[in-house]
Amino acid sequence: MPTVNAYAATSATEPLVKTTVERRELGPNDVLIEIKYAGICHSDIHTVRGDWGPQSYPLAPGHEIVGIVTEIGAEVTKHAVGERAGVGCLVNSCRECEQCRKGNEQYCAKGATGTYGSVDADGTITQGGYTTHIVVDENFVLRVPEGIPFEAAAPLLCAGITTYSPLRHWGAGPGKKVAVVGLGGLGHMGVKLAHAMGAEVTVLSQSLKKQEDGLRLGADAYYATSDPATFEALAGSFDLIINTVSAAVDINAFLQLLTVDGTLVNVGAPAEPLPVAAFSLLMARRSFAGSAIGGIAETQEMLDFCAEHGIGSDVEVIAAEQINEAYERVLASDVRYRFVIDTATMN
Ligand code: NAP
Ligand code: ZN
Ligand code: ZN
Repeated sequence: MPTVNAYAATSATEPLVKTTVERRELGPNDVLIEIKYAGICHSDIHTVRGDWGPQSYPLAPGHEIVGIVTEIGAEVTKHAVGERAGVGCLVNSCRECEQCRKGNEQYCAKGATGTYGSVDADGTITQGGYTTHIVVDENFVLRVPEGIPFEAAAPLLCAGITTYSPLRHWGAGPGKKVAVVGLGGLGHMGVKLAHAMGAEVTVLSQSLKKQEDGLRLGADAYYATSDPATFEALAGSFDLIINTVSAAVDINAFLQLLTVDGTLVNVGAPAEPLPVAAFSLLMARRSFAGSAIGGIAETQEMLDFCAEHGIGSDVEVIAAEQINEAYERVLASDVRYRFVIDTATMN
């Protein structure tokens, strides 16, 4: 089996270290991708640190992957050598259940295979994008349009689709008032995408520190959630709120900001529960919902939408040896707005 350079966690408490991981031999339907950039998603940190449950180590995270196709299996028809390719959070699913057939592979009844930390078809544990190469079934490989710079495209594979999917599902567009809670990796993509869809966008951040950036990214308004006056001023105003916060926040306070029939979609995934009071919902027929990434076809649709609207992620490109430092900055909400690893620094 080919061995490739990687950065991996060896336990929930130790920093990531330079190491190697094994890639399977190219099967008939597989694509070999030479990875150029890999984004750092907060989910990488939750996972390697055990927030979501025990993991098998060593584990190389990373599910915001872009690179070049360097080899294809004998039966591959969807991708060609030399193509700009992307891989997001999924590398396989059952392909037969109702949700897979609908293109909702992320909600596969048998459990989709995650890009890292999942049990693969051959029984091994999948290893993600903090590596120089990855082998993926052609059906789970995306085409990255030429118009989007590679490093700015990587975060679209998770942060982009995770905000695009609920914005589309709940009809963000002209005449809709959308709020995005938390201006981090997901949040800044949510602002750009909701703005491009024609919605009126408000950022709800902990402070006003990033206000200028928020308005530049496409927000029409920006408020600090640390100021109680924000919750009075905005009561009952939004049709849709996307909560991207990685920690447990007071959901009831945010539900009060929804208009009648409004929906708060939670995409943040803290380990702690998010308790909801019955009265936060029933007095205005509000909904509290969740959403996980998006299916493969929808991810391609999102990439094409981004190319059409000139959207990429705002990134800080780092060398692999800066990963641990970047993790600390993400945890301190000091990210503008996605760290992306230049995988050439792993060689
Ligand atoms: P991120 O870049 O760290 O952004 C999270 C933002 O939340 C921060 O920038 C900060 O924004 C705000 N925040 C952080 N701690 C907070 C606290 N204690 N109280 C209030 N606000 C706080 O993280 P991300 O990569 O965007 O991911 C966000 C969450 O979504 C993570 O839990 C991740 O696992 C999850 N996720 C879910 C999916 C899905 O499919 N549903 C996909 C990807 C990620 P401000 O500084 O503006 O307040
Ligand atoms: Zn992610
Ligand atoms: Zn399925």
